[in-house]
Amino acid sequence: MISEANSIPNGACLQADVCIVGSGPAGIALALDLSERGFEVVMLESGHAAENPSTQSLYEGDVTDVRMHSPPDKYRQRRLGGTSAIWGGRCMPFDPIDFETRPHVPHSGWPISYDDLLPYYPKANALAEAGRFSYNAEEALGPNAAPLIKGFDSRRVITSGLERFSCPTPFGSRYAKRLQLARGLSVLLGANCTAIRLQPDGQAVQSLEVTTLQGTRFSIMSDTTVLAAGGLETARLLLASRDVAPAGIGNAHDVVGRYYMCHIAGNVGRLRVHGSAQNVRHGYEVSPDGIYCRRRLSVAPDEQRRLGLANAVARLHFPRITDPAHRNGVLSGLFLARKLISYEYGKRLNDGNVPTPAIYGRHLLNVATDPVDTTAFLTHWISRRSLAQRKFPSVILRNRTNRFSLEMHGEQIPQAQSRVTLGTRVDALGMPQLQVDWRYSPADIDSIRRTLDVLAEEFATSGVASFEYDAENLEEELMRFGAYGGHHIGTARMGRDVRTSVVNADCQVHSVKNLFIAGSAVFPTSSQANPTLTLIALSLRLGNTLAQRLGTARARPVVEAFT
Ligand SMILES: Cc1cc2nc3c(=O)[nH]c(=O)nc-3n(C[C@H](O)[C@H](O)[C@H](O)COP(=O)(O)OP(=O)(O)OC[C@H]3O[C@@H](n4cnc5c(N)ncnc54)[C@H](O)[C@@H]3O)c2cc1C
Repeated sequence: MISEANSIPNGACLQADVCIVGSGPAGIALALDLSERGFEVVMLESGHAAENPSTQSLYEGDVTDVRMHSPPDKYRQRRLGGTSAIWGGRCMPFDPIDFETRPHVPHSGWPISYDDLLPYYPKANALAEAGRFSYNAEEALGPNAAPLIKGFDSRRVITSGLERFSCPTPFGSRYAKRLQLARGLSVLLGANCTAIRLQPDGQAVQSLEVTTLQGTRFSIMSDTTVLAAGGLETARLLLASRDVAPAGIGNAHDVVGRYYMCHIAGNVGRLRVHGSAQNVRHGYEVSPDGIYCRRRLSVAPDEQRRLGLANAVARLHFPRITDPAHRNGVLSGLFLARKLISYEYGKRLNDGNVPTPAIYGRHLLNVATDPVDTTAFLTHWISRRSLAQRKFPSVILRNRTNRFSLEMHGEQIPQAQSRVTLGTRVDALGMPQLQVDWRYSPADIDSIRRTLDVLAEEFATSGVASFEYDAENLEEELMRFGAYGGHHIGTARMGRDVRTSVVNADCQVHSVKNLFIAGSAVFPTSSQANPTLTLIALSLRLGNTLAQRLGTARARPVVEAFT
């Protein structure tokens, strides 16, 4: 059932087996899973079906360095389905190496392995509507699939990796009917969790406080609470709940909000593949199960270990859009239309330089002198993207010249100084806003540099391509737009040591026996992969954990269930 929080009587206290805060992909995956298992679940969602400015403003906050990180009310959506309302749908699992303790990646090492998560990935893939859980080109596209670059064969570089694309599925609208009909599930819209109240000994959650923007207040008492409010908001809720734990819940060792990671990303260098354009698969391919897929390059795990590299991938990409030197009408058209594109997708079309009239003129000339491609692109975009149910994932240009840049997407090395804290201002509900101080380190840039060097060496050795980039300007290129937006990772990290982590291998806050976290906040490291598929898989694993714990609890008093 989906209903309005304002319909709950002021001062009421609702009961449930599990209360989930937040209805993004993490919350919805868990809510549906627990309801299928027969539990009574309440899911609190701050927003409604559509974006609402007053609700969205609850996400506002401050950023320490505005060049490095977008304002916190951007790249997040406070509504049913959360940020999946605007996500790009790129799916791929983490790699086994991501879970390892790697000496060259400080603070690395998960308390679970890839194999612990593997059973949950296929269902996560299905929920994301990304088809089969198959991320190897040969397996996913069939044995006759052409290689990424014909003739490029390297022991050090993997070219068989693949990413698959969700519709992109907006979880709110796609699963609204299932949420409405799910047995034992109550979704409350407009329900803002404003505080987590602990029992006096601080070892269990007693209740959650809920407030609506219209002023209705009530509380929830549940055996188990799960915070699925997103990678930034979960930390905010923990830090802001200070009545019993003065430093915030789970924060006795000052870890909540620290180790905040995004991804290190940018377009780099010049790749020239020799021979025919037919030899290169740089765009989207459709798998037999109808999913858009895209190839990628990565350094093999053994080489990553040997060279001390963080994990990263490279995709074959087009030149920087803002620079009219590309002489491409489609790219120039995008540049000229950038103000019509949403902040999140338009940001990388503004490189910080104010374009001169001459730059505008050159972009206009590109459009005027490239009418065939520009018209073909528009027709394709309208039919395969705007009007299609399963959308063509992004702009891809016809490959005529076999010249590309490499689009890098790399793991960010965790560091304690990169953090979110509570700021001095409060939102409309009286909750302290967030202060975001995202930092990267020279090691992040150096790792991408050495990854690019491996790729350049291997292209040269193979003789099928050459790659060069400007090492001196690499940092500027990767940091041109600051942190890669939308991936909010690590603010309540998972680990065994209570002094350096917030949750344990079960995603339970160490010090609070009935409080759990679902979402990328718990990732101790960020991988090369976009986070959503893995956070859904972790939610499903959490569903299994809770079912085991609550199953036992039913026969016994709740307090004993978690001892
Ligand atoms: C432009 C963009 C593109 C992206 N593309 C990709 C991609 O291609 N691939 C990928 O893997 N990821 C992508 N992402 C990231 C992806 O959207 C997130 O990883 C995902 O949405 C996180 O899911 P979540 O459920 O943890 O959090 P969210 O989706 O953020 O949901 C959190 C929910 O909690 C609710 N909430 C917050 N606070 C409270 C409160 N106090 N009380 C009640 N409810 C609350 C919010 O309203 C929201 O509904 C992209 C993000 C952006 C912005």
